[in-house]
Amino acid sequence: MSKKYVRAIFPGSFDPITNGHLDVIKRGMNLFDELIIAVGRSPVKNQLFSFQDRVDMIAEIIEKEKMQSVSVESFAGLTVEYAASKQANVILRGLRSLTDVQYEFQLAMTNRAVTGIETIFILTSEQYGFTSSTLIREVANLGGDLSKLIPINVQERLKKRLSKEK
Ligand code: ADP
Repeated sequence: MSKKYVRAIFPGSFDPITNGHLDVIKRGMNLFDELIIAVGRSPVKNQLFSFQDRVDMIAEIIEKEKMQSVSVESFAGLTVEYAASKQANVILRGLRSLTDVQYEFQLAMTNRAVTGIETIFILTSEQYGFTSSTLIREVANLGGDLSKLIPINVQERLKKRLSKEK
């Protein structure tokens, strides 16, 4: 039986990318031939980093960690349309909790109903079960230590951002 080439997209806001996202990316990398991290350009409330900054930080990590089958792009509009434009056959998402399941289930069902695309879920490692970009933004604003939760380049950019704001 010939093996099908699997190109997956990992869509999200990534504002900013966390070690939880990275954990999903590293494990997804071993399952797919190609993985595109897709930074959504939909307008979000309480945005911390610009789309370009988010893409740049992810690109730095891909380069530093030599993830050869991984790339990063930004996209606007519907995830399924973006997936089709990249001829991707899988959407990758991460799961932290049952609350995530409820939302992700609906999203995955809708995406499959509309285009037939499959969503594959990777469960978070226990230590990142409580990590979310929202929490990172809140703790960062209060000056908390985030060294265990976000990559070093993200920490550095956060520091710069916050010192400029003061
Ligand atoms: P979105 O706004 O689309 O949920 P996020 O950037 O918050 O975008 O998340 C992108 C994906 O990564 C989602 O599937 C989310 O459930 C998953 N994710 C976020 N944080 C973690 C984590 N700590 N562990 C595993 N998956 C995560």
